[in-house]
Amino acid sequence: MRLSQFHLNTSRETPADAEIVSHQLMLRTGMIRKLAAGIYTWSPLGLRVLRRVEAVVREEMDRAGAIEMLMPSVQPRELWEETGRWEKFGGQLLKIRDRKETEYCYGPTHEEVITDFARNELQSYKQLPVNFYQIQTKFRDEIRPRFGVMRAREFLMKDAYSFHLSPECLERGYQTMHAAYTRIFTRLGLKFRAVKADSGAIGGDASQEFHVLADSGEDAIAFSDASAYAANLEAAEALAPAAPRAAAAEAMREVATPTQKTCEDVAALMGIALARTVKSLALMTPDGFVLALVRGDHTVNEIKLAKAPGLGESRFATEAEIADYLGSEPGFLGPVDPKKPITVVADRTVAAMADFVVGANRAGFHLAGVNWGRDLPEPTHVADIRSVVEGDPSPDGQGTLSIARGIEVGHVFQLGQKYAEAMDCTVLAENGKAQTVWMGCYGIGVSRIVAAAIEQNHDAAGIVWPEPMAPWKVAVCIINPKKDESVAEAAEALYRQLTRAGLDAVLDDRGLRPGPMFADIELIGIPHRIVVSERGLAAGTFEYRARDASESETLDRAALLARLA
Ligand code: ATP
Ligand code: MG
Ligand code: MG
Ligand code: MG
Repeated sequence: MRLSQFHLNTSRETPADAEIVSHQLMLRTGMIRKLAAGIYTWSPLGLRVLRRVEAVVREEMDRAGAIEMLMPSVQPRELWEETGRWEKFGGQLLKIRDRKETEYCYGPTHEEVITDFARNELQSYKQLPVNFYQIQTKFRDEIRPRFGVMRAREFLMKDAYSFHLSPECLERGYQTMHAAYTRIFTRLGLKFRAVKADSGAIGGDASQEFHVLADSGEDAIAFSDASAYAANLEAAEALAPAAPRAAAAEAMREVATPTQKTCEDVAALMGIALARTVKSLALMTPDGFVLALVRGDHTVNEIKLAKAPGLGESRFATEAEIADYLGSEPGFLGPVDPKKPITVVADRTVAAMADFVVGANRAGFHLAGVNWGRDLPEPTHVADIRSVVEGDPSPDGQGTLSIARGIEVGHVFQLGQKYAEAMDCTVLAENGKAQTVWMGCYGIGVSRIVAAAIEQNHDAAGIVWPEPMAPWKVAVCIINPKKDESVAEAAEALYRQLTRAGLDAVLDDRGLRPGPMFADIELIGIPHRIVVSERGLAAGTFEYRARDASESETLDRAALLARLA
């Protein structure tokens, strides 16, 4: 590729609205452009990187025996009714209607579609096990899209679904995918950790997430340095000693009593401290409840769940709006009066509540939510009450726990028979009887990986791509091409030689001055840079610099080719 024929549009300015470094650098390099909230265009430069990630994912999925296919992104409501997820999935499901008023959603995931495919295609146990995958655009109407493609609404996912005759076979298929994921993230040159995940609302038995370690990560993971134990915080808490959980559940039962209590009462019941400050924001839920929110560390200063129909879809509402709606004085979310009575009202379904609380906690709020049960035997505890902290003994008894931040880039799940049962997906077993299949599902955030890799690999000058993800492996830069034609010719010849040798090279023939040219090549993170100049040409040498090296070297052609091989 000749840069003069490419579209490169970089900028020196750090965009004001980009909070984390990957978002800033993806904008500065011009890799992505925002079209609407959480919706991005991938420029030619960005696409080159995205395709690299995709290629590694595809190769490893193929190697692991999965078979590629492509499913539609628009999915009919009826299919989602079969699993009950048309309602249960919550606000992330983008629902649309066609001209005949038939309802569809834009697929956030494809369990329903693949199970429908499988129940029609698979008749016999002889066709099992089988694993289908696709690399395809998903849409999730995230509460708070942010950090560019890291938490987008439209994003690229690799999703795979496996079908088995027995739980033992599912376990083997799951391990194969786990190994494939380990290879993928290793090949991409990322520092990552596989952690136990809480399989939560999706159900199923075993689930692990792959996290790229980065301080900007939205998830917390707990791990022991003395053993292989690693879990996301939710899962670590699920395994934590039962006593605090039981006590918390008991406290929630008390809290859920629909009477007025003071903040102090609630805090005492929940065994948590009151916060010093209150964030003056509240979050609307899709079905019209308002929670006064608390930002802070494991503290709750006010819990208010109030029915508030009419304030619209899930979104952040301002304090003034909420106050107005509730007929309170503005400032009711102001400094906490521990003695002030608060009303706790909650009659949401567990799934909706859990979804909401998890989403809000992810957005940086720490919520306590409660549910008591008209339709449930017990109140369900969905609060973000931390029962695991740094320094706690590891649940496996070996060492103590450290807590780090991670970015979830992959997720492997044993779904069991949940979807197959709901959608009646069976095959004829060897004994001639119909048998419900066992399923696994395996996701990778292809577009999120690009951002996650930048979080881990950058310096003051820009991106430092791990080689397998770089848009080009090597850049050949021409100094003063106009002044001396032989320099341009020598650079062209070298570029052609590198290309013939199978190296993915780019020729910077834009005629920029060395300063801006090198700044661009560094910003976009090309791993190897070669400078062809009049002086070098006279001496028969090239100036070579690795992106992660502090100095450049002078090499002759043979040494240069050996270095790049
Ligand atoms: P998260 O916890 O970050 O919301 P998730 O658990 O909802 O992710 P999965 O349903 O497990 O996501 O989807 C598989 C993968 O898709 C995730 O591991 C992640 O890498 C990616 N992904 C999920 N949501 C987004 C998003 N909004 N933007 C970009 N990638 C995403
Ligand atoms: Mg999510
Ligand atoms: Mg997750
Ligand atoms: Mg997940």
